[in-house]
Amino acid sequence: MSESFDFKKLGFIGLGAMGKPMLVHLANKLPPESRIYVFDVVEVTMNEIFSQFPDKVFRGSSARDVAQQDTIITMVPEGSHVRSVYLDPTNGVCSTDISNKLLIDCSTIDTATSLNVKDHIEKHFPSASFYDSPVSGGVVGAIKGTIAFFLGCAESDPNVERLTHLMGMMGKQVIPCGGPSLGLAAKLSNNYLSGVIAIACSEAFDMGMRSGLDPRTLAKVYAAGTAQNTICDRFCPVPHVYPDAPSSGGYKQGFKVQLMRKDFSLAMDMAKRVGSKNMLGEAGLKTYDGASKDPRCRDLDSRVVYRYLGGNEEWLLEENGSSSAA
Ligand code: NAD
Repeated sequence: MSESFDFKKLGFIGLGAMGKPMLVHLANKLPPESRIYVFDVVEVTMNEIFSQFPDKVFRGSSARDVAQQDTIITMVPEGSHVRSVYLDPTNGVCSTDISNKLLIDCSTIDTATSLNVKDHIEKHFPSASFYDSPVSGGVVGAIKGTIAFFLGCAESDPNVERLTHLMGMMGKQVIPCGGPSLGLAAKLSNNYLSGVIAIACSEAFDMGMRSGLDPRTLAKVYAAGTAQNTICDRFCPVPHVYPDAPSSGGYKQGFKVQLMRKDFSLAMDMAKRVGSKNMLGEAGLKTYDGASKDPRCRDLDSRVVYRYLGGNEEWLLEENGSSSAA
């Protein structure tokens, strides 16, 4: 570890599906003298961590309490939670003196809220530094330490090396995206693309299979042709084509369809605000909105849109049945 980077006093707020494994990497990799103070509104989510790292991870009583540390990472669900964590006048991060502190918000939220928090911090604590740094790679990536961070600053920012060092303990890639809120703009643009591909992929498989093709053959064709993409290759929406894809395990592990709906909606708001013409956006949002409300799909991996659109999940059973009957 570089001697010049001192993360002895760290705070972490939001220990959910992503935050907890990210914290575990930090607790495992930071030097023994480091102390991490954590806070989550749901107390039980923290207990397991305290027993796992009794000498390194400690309970904070509020976001304000955790903000006594030098570097603070936040990982909460939505803009409203980020506003409350930072701006709550009694218990928020900014209700205490955060001069000179490094603050990193990894939540995927709207750019306006992020800029609002940044402006507030700049106005009241000009020596503090706030960055948006949303992540990609899902819960599995957070557990494996392979997530990517999209950092809302220029490559020339004086904190880039320090931030890259810290995030490198939790993930594989750190990409400075140019300036404040551009990490979020990059993330929303990425999830828009990934969400559209998952729908297109589901539709393409469905029509090919209804025409008589084996989905494994279709997957080979897409991989060899111009349609090649990661959703088809590693997150195939059709079950049992790629054994490690969430679909093959009943869509249980992965990126929840409600989160895709949230990101897709944030991306569409962004598109409207900046005036880009997203022909597929309305159809995509309608699809994820419907799937996230459908009891057959809710809480499952977003590639469950294949089920929502009426794709055949029993193709392998049917094939085995017909071959054993033959
Ligand atoms: P989660 O709901 O599992 O966890 C969020 C945690 O924040 C919860 O433990 C909750 O109790 C806590 N929280 C909420 N409000 C709080 C507050 N005011 N103070 C302290 N704690 C508070 O969500 P997640 O899946 O960990 O996602 C977090 C963020 O990361 C979201 O913005 C999400 O879009 C983004 N993200 C998620 C994934 C994924 O696959 N789950 C992937 C990439 C990015």
